[in-house]
Amino acid sequence: MRIDIATLFPELMETYLSESIIGRARKNNVFELKCHNIRDYTEDKHRRVDDTPYSERQGMLMQCQPIYNCFNEVTKDRNPHVIYMSPQGKTLTQKRAKELAQMNDIFILCGHYEGVDSRVLDKIVDEEISIGDYVLTGGELPALVLVDCVVRMLEGTLSQTDCYEDESHYSGLLEYPQYTRPELWEGEKVPSVLLSGDHAKIAKWRREQQIITTYKKRPELLEKCSLTHEDLAIIHKLNSGENL
Ligand code: SAM
Repeated sequence: MRIDIATLFPELMETYLSESIIGRARKNNVFELKCHNIRDYTEDKHRRVDDTPYSERQGMLMQCQPIYNCFNEVTKDRNPHVIYMSPQGKTLTQKRAKELAQMNDIFILCGHYEGVDSRVLDKIVDEEISIGDYVLTGGELPALVLVDCVVRMLEGTLSQTDCYEDESHYSGLLEYPQYTRPELWEGEKVPSVLLSGDHAKIAKWRREQQIITTYKKRPELLEKCSLTHEDLAIIHKLNSGENL
């Protein structure tokens, strides 16, 4: 997969994208990522990329020309899926990230200031993605969120695929509780089933715990999941006030 990010703050992006799991996957060529400074594409002699909006509102708006030139240069002879990070977009979900992880070529545009002149958005953008119903100062953090979420599902990023398949939201449920050493901490024991070595029992416990955790923390998610008879029996017990 190739990802291009057009931003006014490429160094800021590089700091995050060169570190830890994502940085290692990038070094190992699990995916190719380049950040492009939109300012390098301005034709303004003072290197400006923004101007005041045609309205009474205050603030500055990113202009079409630098973004369009950046997009054309970077995507020459290619046809990437173009995403604009925007509070007006559809909220990012694990499901959408999973779909994006199947694509080969993605171009992400980060806005700043009051946003971007709509004409260039209309011309190049395929999809707007939001990371939540609130407004940030720029699209950089949202783009990092998107890239992180997509890239960790590419083969080779995590050591084991089931690392993310078991995690919250992948199947629609939240993850079961997790424990690590020591076995006894402050008088609290790790659930004995996890020490049993019985894989079938552990798998059953995990599923039950996923249902219980989701019921307690995000009950609305259960409405969209496909549930087994056993899952429904657990929910029935929880509804009747049983303490599982
Ligand atoms: N005036 C715009 C509006 O009301 O829709 C908001 C502009 S915001 C201050 C500046 C930039 O931050 C946007 O162009 C977008 O790229 C990014 N941004 C802000 N909040 C975001 C969010 N929740 N999700 C994705 N991108 C966001």
